[in-house]
Amino acid sequence: MTNKPNILIIYTGGTIGMVKDYKTNALKAFDFSEIVQNIPELQQLNCNIKSISFKEPIDSSNMNTQYYIDIVEIIESNYTKFDGFVILTGSDTMSYISSAVSFMLENLQKPIIFTGSQLPIGDIRTDAKENLITSIAIASVRKQHQPLIKEVCLYFEYKLYRANRTTKISAEHFEAFASMNYPALAESGVHLKFNEALLFKPTEKDKPLIVRKNLISDVVILKLFPGITKATVEAILSIQNLKGVILESYGSGNAPNETWFIDLLKKAIAKEIKVVNVTQCSGGSVILGHYDTSVKLKKIGVISGLDITTESAVAKLMYLLNEDLSLEMFKYHFQKSLRGEITKK
Ligand code: ASP
Repeated sequence: MTNKPNILIIYTGGTIGMVKDYKTNALKAFDFSEIVQNIPELQQLNCNIKSISFKEPIDSSNMNTQYYIDIVEIIESNYTKFDGFVILTGSDTMSYISSAVSFMLENLQKPIIFTGSQLPIGDIRTDAKENLITSIAIASVRKQHQPLIKEVCLYFEYKLYRANRTTKISAEHFEAFASMNYPALAESGVHLKFNEALLFKPTEKDKPLIVRKNLISDVVILKLFPGITKATVEAILSIQNLKGVILESYGSGNAPNETWFIDLLKKAIAKEIKVVNVTQCSGGSVILGHYDTSVKLKKIGVISGLDITTESAVAKLMYLLNEDLSLEMFKYHFQKSLRGEITKK
């Protein structure tokens, strides 16, 4: 036994571990053991590293809630043996996956760092090595014999973010993520600089980890656009078994105040479908009632998502729907910051 932190890398797939199939020119996943071989520098880090891999690594576009459960079960069964976790996934849905994992793990006291890359690890210009090495270094940081980070984060291109605040903003640039409504938790330059005041501080220090595995997938994102028809909205809101809607509205939560639109939402809410209003803007907050075009939404029971991202709203909706809450209680919990995903007023 050494005093070095023990870090577990969980490889689920994504570009970071991909190679080119030269026959088809497409990228496909390969065996994770090759990743470690590709980065001998990992041995120089001041920690003990173990890794575990999905049997069949996947492109993150193939992720669903069953894979989220697979990830949290790996964390659950290794929680006491390791001091920190680095999860490698594809960047395409990384904000969705990591947001969901943040809600699924209650009373988390250890760092969980999601990362990936825009170029495969074997590429000469890869961003994978820096992302992986620094993520492991961050997961290893301790303060007063405890992990400094006690939340789910996302590290990409020199910045550490709170995962449930992120959005993928570029399919091309190495700087693929942004966190518009919450500053970066740390920046990696010559030194790793943490903004400790911004880190999530769990209120319950001695409570054991609770892993929530029941997510309700009967949700939909209804993105508004000028000219959206009654037939479209009607069809979406009458999806069988629909339990939750993320209404992606304009600006600070505005939507058409035409009667047909409000009536359809009203009908959905009467069927106990929870409707959460999230802005289409990349930054800023929903302020229900600020404009005339959101007064009616507020009146009929649409819930304000405040400054939550769409990715995080989907995850929080899937998580809270399992609790079978009344509209009032659902609203109370949705608008409360559970894992730092919303800015408290
Ligand atoms: N398509 C890949 C994925 O999300 C892209 C990436 O790894 O960044 O799995």
